[in-house]
Amino acid sequence: PSATRLDRWLAGFYQKPQAEVRLLIAAGRVALDGQVCLERQARVTQFSKVVVDGEVLQALQPLYLLLNKPAGVVSATKDPQHQTVIDLVDHPQASTLHIAGRLDKHSSGMVLLTNDGQWSRSLTLPESKVTKHYRVRLGNSVQSAQHRLEYQQAFIKGMHFDFEDMQVQAESLEFLSEDEVEVVLTQGRYHQIKRMFGVFRNPVIELHRFRIGDLALPSNLHTGQWKSLSEQELAAIK
Ligand code: URA
Repeated sequence: PSATRLDRWLAGFYQKPQAEVRLLIAAGRVALDGQVCLERQARVTQFSKVVVDGEVLQALQPLYLLLNKPAGVVSATKDPQHQTVIDLVDHPQASTLHIAGRLDKHSSGMVLLTNDGQWSRSLTLPESKVTKHYRVRLGNSVQSAQHRLEYQQAFIKGMHFDFEDMQVQAESLEFLSEDEVEVVLTQGRYHQIKRMFGVFRNPVIELHRFRIGDLALPSNLHTGQWKSLSEQELAAIK
């Protein structure tokens, strides 16, 4: 996270000159992350705890949550009509969260929520190549091996989306049955999978994200439930 010097941070908080807030620091009245801090150049990030004379000025805990999104819930922080993914998170700091990679309203499965903007940015950059794994149910069965191969080749070679004027592609596509497919993406354009199947005039009936990087949706995390990610789970994502 981007950092600010302690004296600048305090000056901004109080809207006072830095010379004035330095006196607070020198007097030992400022605590940073639980310890008295006499160092005016100490680094303050959005997740540092800052306390002056026992009063908490900032105490934002970094949150990394995984939600098993039900179909029908929107990937937005606020929505006047529909339930949002944030509405499902009963956490005192839920209002600080944003979504690291959306799912469409009718899609289900893994959604990552965080208040760490740097982390979510790095995850959603195409260069970071974090894989997202989807199980898809199609409206039209694809029976012949030849047709399945055509889907596979088109998805992997890539297609042009005129609206964005860009090339989109999948890392892989595997048929599990005649109407069930697994697709792996490292991108996440608007309705990407639906639109890619749309090129074949094949509607997506269900879409479920079951893995991100090496982190699989835990089988005990039921639809609508969320959990905090452990260090190991965070590391598995990329
Ligand atoms: N592609 C889609 O079309 N929808 C999603 O929710 C995710 C990928």
